[in-house]
Amino acid sequence: MARRALITGITGQDGAYLSEFLLSKGYEVHGVVRRSSHVGFTDYRLRWLGIESRVTLHDGDLCDLSSMIRIVELVQPDELYNLAAQSFVSASWDQPILTANVTAVGVTVALEALRIARPSARFYQASSSEMFGLAQEPLQNEKTPFYPRSPYAVAKLYGHWTTVNYRESFGLHATSGILFNHESPLRSVEFVTRKVTDAVARIKLGLATELKLGNLDAQRDWGHARDYVKAMWLMLQQPVPGEYVVATGRMASVREMCQIAFDHIGADPDRYVRVDQSLYRPAEVDALQGDASKARRVLGWRPETTLDEMIREMVDADIERHSEGAMRARRARSISA
Ligand code: GDP
Repeated sequence: MARRALITGITGQDGAYLSEFLLSKGYEVHGVVRRSSHVGFTDYRLRWLGIESRVTLHDGDLCDLSSMIRIVELVQPDELYNLAAQSFVSASWDQPILTANVTAVGVTVALEALRIARPSARFYQASSSEMFGLAQEPLQNEKTPFYPRSPYAVAKLYGHWTTVNYRESFGLHATSGILFNHESPLRSVEFVTRKVTDAVARIKLGLATELKLGNLDAQRDWGHARDYVKAMWLMLQQPVPGEYVVATGRMASVREMCQIAFDHIGADPDRYVRVDQSLYRPAEVDALQGDASKARRVLGWRPETTLDEMIREMVDADIERHSEGAMRARRARSISA
């Protein structure tokens, strides 16, 4: 019988790539989706990957324990991946309580649903390198002390320790993956990589003339989401649960990442990039660089896509998206004319 996976956050970037990966492994894939007024839009990432008809979606909410228990009872998953979150750092200062409810307490809800309705299932918690925040060591691994710098990171830290605590308290197979930034053409445009590649594509097509950014000196360790979801799965195949850092080990600044994107269209970033002070954050995470040697040693995992390859893939995808959009608009104009 096919193994069953339940994914919260299935309509997000990681949920979509993880679904695609688990389907390729023969899993039956189920996902939790919030009721939304944007029906037909929420699953656009699953449609982009061409897998929307191969996953089963259930209405539920991480803020609503009874809905989660009902879904876990119905699906009886072998693996639960908790990927749902208010995941945009910047927004967490504007909506700190929502962020705490979903990103922190939501982890307890998911774990309670498992403990009550399916304690034998394995649990994956999407923890984040943002928990390292004001990094206490130049290279961060599983032993590096945390220093969160945003309501989002504080909430993620609660989720991380709750996962550890449920493992130690109730013997659940609960694992926390501390993933460094991971991007793709399916990343939302509010994140800096996709904001850049989307603007670069529009500049290339003559649809934009400038790109406003905040702190160009911030440095991140950016990998590809498609590579990182494999690490999530590998973690749950281990006989014992644990914590794993997942990263490329290469750090680059926002400025360098921009350069890669502009180079790809043969343009000079200095002509287009404007620094906008309003895009700076109340507290910044200056630099993150991960040491994923445990994941390499124990899981046999390593990243397959370089930063340059990923940024070029994202620019190309955005050029395609905007070309199609422009063509549709032209067609619509000629029909109405
Ligand atoms: P995060 O690491 O989860 O916060 O991912 P983001 O992609 O949102 O931000 C990465 C870094 O890029 C942060 O240090 C931001 O301050 C910096 N950054 C600079 N300009 C921008 C911008 O216009 N948008 C975003 N999202 N980040 C920016």
